[in-house]
Amino acid sequence: MIHSNVIQKEKAVDKSAKNVLVNLANVRKVYPNGTVAVTNVNLQAGEGEFICFVGPSGCGKSTIFNMVTGLTDHSQGELSVLGTTPAQARKHNEIAFVFQDHTLLPWATLLENVTLPLKLRGLPKKQVKAEGERVLTLVGLKDHMNVPPRQLSGGMKMRVSIARALITRPKLLLMDEPFGALDEITRQSLQDELLNIWNKEKEMSVLFITHNVFEAAYLSTRVVVMTPRPGKIGDIINIPTSKKRDEDFRTSDEFNKYVGEISSCLKH
Ligand code: ADP
Repeated sequence: MIHSNVIQKEKAVDKSAKNVLVNLANVRKVYPNGTVAVTNVNLQAGEGEFICFVGPSGCGKSTIFNMVTGLTDHSQGELSVLGTTPAQARKHNEIAFVFQDHTLLPWATLLENVTLPLKLRGLPKKQVKAEGERVLTLVGLKDHMNVPPRQLSGGMKMRVSIARALITRPKLLLMDEPFGALDEITRQSLQDELLNIWNKEKEMSVLFITHNVFEAAYLSTRVVVMTPRPGKIGDIINIPTSKKRDEDFRTSDEFNKYVGEISSCLKH
């Protein structure tokens, strides 16, 4: 009996640890030149969340992303990703990122571009190809798998970048202003595609930086509004996941209410 209680307790602990993908507790970052980039950052990102970060330039959004991915260390506080250090999480391919600048190999085909991370891991050719086709299908580009990226539009290149990020089936996807350089129509259709992908990959959480309050209101389950330097989390706005994201939502009074709320938090 005692034994089974112990097991139950362990299971309970495991479950909660699994549900929190990113834990930031009182995190502070001071760069070597003395710049305090962020301070007192407290945030827990759970499995299956879509969290957008908005805030003025220089408030520390990229710094938070760089700490979560292990590109830079935090100076104080606690930071864990999937219950471990960012470096370990990266080593196990649990984290992937997408930037505005897609850095695709111009001479390689789309299939070769998206499968590069798996080839580097030495996986069997057949599996590499199957996974490449899977992610190119997810972003609607399977028919283009044998063409090089130079033949593609900006929006299509971004879809390839997303496919490449998804190839390792990450639990956490970080996106730093991925759609910033795209025209509005392309941006909106990529937002819908991204939400479709996120809905399919139920457990994957997305952390997303944007300057666009409409984008934040459309995509997020939570919007983190940051204050100017040194960056802190000013407000967190919840947007119910149950709301279907579609044209009706985009043109609804409720959507405008969220946009207004985010905008007014940004002004404080
Ligand atoms: P955001 O992404 O919100 O624009 P950043 O995280 O890029 O903000 O920057 C936050 C602050 O930290 C800014 O004042 C920026 O100048 C500073 N900063 C960013 N990277 C470095 C660095 N490597 N060394 C010193 N200061 C930095």
